[in-house]
Amino acid sequence: MSFFAYRDGEMHAEGVALSALAAQVGTPFYCYSAGALRAAWHDFADNLDGMNAEVCYAMKANSSLAVIRLFGEMGAGADIVSEGEMRRALAAGIPAKRIVYSGVGKKASELGAALKAGVGQINVESAAELETLNAVAGQLGVKAAITIRVNPDVDAKTHAKITTGRKENKFGIDIDLAREAFALAGRLPHLQVVGVAMHIGSQLTSLDPYRDAIVRVRELIVQLRADGHRIDRFDIGGGLGIVYADETPPSIADFLAVVRRETDGLGCALTFEPGRRLVGEAGVLVSEVILVKPGVSKTFVIVDAAMNDLIRPTLYEAWHEIQPVRQRPGAATFRCDIVGPICESGDFLAQDRDLPPLSAGDLVVVRSAGAYGAVMASSYNSRPLAPEVMVDGTRFAVTRPRPSIEEMLSAERFPPWLEPVKT
Ligand SMILES: *Cc1c(COP(=O)(O)O)cnc(C)c1O
Repeated sequence: MSFFAYRDGEMHAEGVALSALAAQVGTPFYCYSAGALRAAWHDFADNLDGMNAEVCYAMKANSSLAVIRLFGEMGAGADIVSEGEMRRALAAGIPAKRIVYSGVGKKASELGAALKAGVGQINVESAAELETLNAVAGQLGVKAAITIRVNPDVDAKTHAKITTGRKENKFGIDIDLAREAFALAGRLPHLQVVGVAMHIGSQLTSLDPYRDAIVRVRELIVQLRADGHRIDRFDIGGGLGIVYADETPPSIADFLAVVRRETDGLGCALTFEPGRRLVGEAGVLVSEVILVKPGVSKTFVIVDAAMNDLIRPTLYEAWHEIQPVRQRPGAATFRCDIVGPICESGDFLAQDRDLPPLSAGDLVVVRSAGAYGAVMASSYNSRPLAPEVMVDGTRFAVTRPRPSIEEMLSAERFPPWLEPVKT
């Protein structure tokens, strides 16, 4: 079932016309389908039958409180990468025990906040972090439950900027150095080693890298146990791909079948940290055409969403489908770039697309924008952050309103030595 579809020639999110939302909240805006979010969650959670496993939503993909709450209601934990994300997860009602704290550079203050809040597991990524965490835990008089994230050196065959499991990436501890790190962790009195973690990349469309990585980490777990460590948990990370264009990402069932097979008999509880897979296809970005500018070599459709709203096209060379909100059956298409108003040549949403004729005031929808969209937005060019709306059947709610320009300006201060502005 598609949660974003044309009905009577108009693109809807479930039972709500995107044009109706645009009239109410203005453009650009992000729209999430609660039904699509729930379906993605169930696709994962309902396939875990008989596995000793938990799903911690990697909230950096979309940290909207409403989205986290929706997953939390269905039993999700959270995978966080900062104190701010921890506060969001707690504010959305995720129990601290179900929070996993990942990240390559956690500050002592952040580790302290996590221990005070009682987060369930901290995934440590370096020897230096082991020492820092041990010291912080000692000061607080607690024992920190940790895994060590290892870097299994496999090629996830995804975009270079979202590959994380190669030797040359900054993430995790080289699998060849992992035993030393575990030995150090074992000597530190305020750490409690509970397992091993990995996360090899994002937007993976093949299961082979997972299989290779799990096989390597499995061998490591056997060695670590022989070294005397207690390894009860294996955190597999996230990374499953979604459909942007014509990708064929593996089904959750196939993914879990591989995990089941490769971890069979290992006796580890499993943690999954899906991000993109749970939210990516459940969100769209809606924008209005400002003007159409015919050029010598190509036509530019200038829309009111830009790279500050959705940076993926220019940052990752990502391809997002763009569709008119009002269908134009039979209309001849024309080739164009869909670009924003920002003063950067890299400010585009799509290049060389064949779209039906568009003119000022028409609405377009950017598909599969639910992951790494709104969370990566900035207010570059003093453009207010695009609001976020959640649709559920025929209901909708603005879950983050667009800030006014006054609100944006009032967050700043003049240095006292500058002449006051005459009003
Ligand atoms: C980003 C990240 C995830 C989620 O990745 P997706 O590709 O969005 O599933 C999971 N775990 C860790 C440690 C991450 O950094």
